Amino acid sequence: MKLWSILGNSQRLDGGAMFGNAPRAMWKKWSPPDDLNRIELACRALLATPVNGKTVLFEAGIGAFFEPKLRDRYGVVEDRHVLLDSLAEAGFSHEDVDVVVLSHLHFDHAGGLLAAWEEGKPARLLFPGATFVVGAEHWRRARNPHPRDRASFIPELMDLLEASGRLELVEGERCKALGDAVRFHFSQGHTPGLMLAELCGQEGGDGRPHGGLVFCADLVPGRPWVHVPITMGYDRFPEMLIDEKRAFLEDKLERNVHLYFTHDPGCALAQVTRDEKGKFGTTHEVSALHARSLAA
Ligand SMILES: [Zn+2]
Repeated sequence: MKLWSILGNSQRLDGGAMFGNAPRAMWKKWSPPDDLNRIELACRALLATPVNGKTVLFEAGIGAFFEPKLRDRYGVVEDRHVLLDSLAEAGFSHEDVDVVVLSHLHFDHAGGLLAAWEEGKPARLLFPGATFVVGAEHWRRARNPHPRDRASFIPELMDLLEASGRLELVEGERCKALGDAVRFHFSQGHTPGLMLAELCGQEGGDGRPHGGLVFCADLVPGRPWVHVPITMGYDRFPEMLIDEKRAFLEDKLERNVHLYFTHDPGCALAQVTRDEKGKFGTTHEVSALHARSLAA
C-alpha cells in the first residue's frame, strides 16, 4: 500500500477559538498568530492505494465551494480547488477515487467533495465513482444538527450524498467498502459520532494490529492538541473529548499506530511518545508523504 498526503485549501482562523481555554501566551508559541489573531491551518487529506483493492481518499478538506463573501468569513486562503490540484500532482484525479472516508461532515472536512463555486450554478458533487463512507450516528446528527453546530454543515451536500446512491453508513468498527483493512474508532467530544479511521498494520502477538496509522480528524487536529488538556472552542463536550483523547493516545502508543493530522500545517504524520510525567508528545514527524509504503 502506498500513501500520499494531499493538501486541500488552507484556512486562517482565530487562534483563541482553535485553542479553547488555553492562554494566548501558550498557544502563540505553537501557532504564531497574524495581526488579526488568526493562525494558519491546513486541511490535509490522505490518499491510500490499494486498500482492499481500492483507491481511497480520507477526507476532502474545506474545498472551494463557498461564495466569495463566506470564503472570506471562514478564512479560506485560496480561491481555486487546491485538493484537485494536489491529487493531480500525486498522479490522480477525483474520478480515480473508489472510496472517500469522511470522519464527519463539518464543512472544513467535507466541502472539498463539491466543485468550486461558480456564480449562479448549484452545488455539484465531485468523485463520480466513489462510495462515500460516513458514520451512521454522525449522519443522523448532520441531518438534524443542534443549533450549536448547525452552521458547520452544508445541507446541499447531504442531499447530494444521499441522491448519489453511493453513501455507505457505518455502524460498527468495519465498513463493507474497505473490509478488514480499515478499522474505525468513534469519539463524541468534538461532534457526535466522529469516526477515526485506522489503516491497520500487521497483527501482533496479542492478536491486535500494530503499526499502521490513524486519521485523527478533530479529536487531535495537530501536534499542539496531542497535549491532553488542549481542546478547541468548537468541541461540543471538551471534558469528554479529553477523556476520549487520553484513551485513544494510550492505545496508539501501545500498538505503535502513527498519528495522521489534518489541520497541522507543518506535520502530516508522527509517532506518539509519553514522558516520565505521563505527558503525550510526538516524534519522527513527517511533513508530507509521497508514495510512502505502509506494510499491511
Ligand atoms: Zn476540522
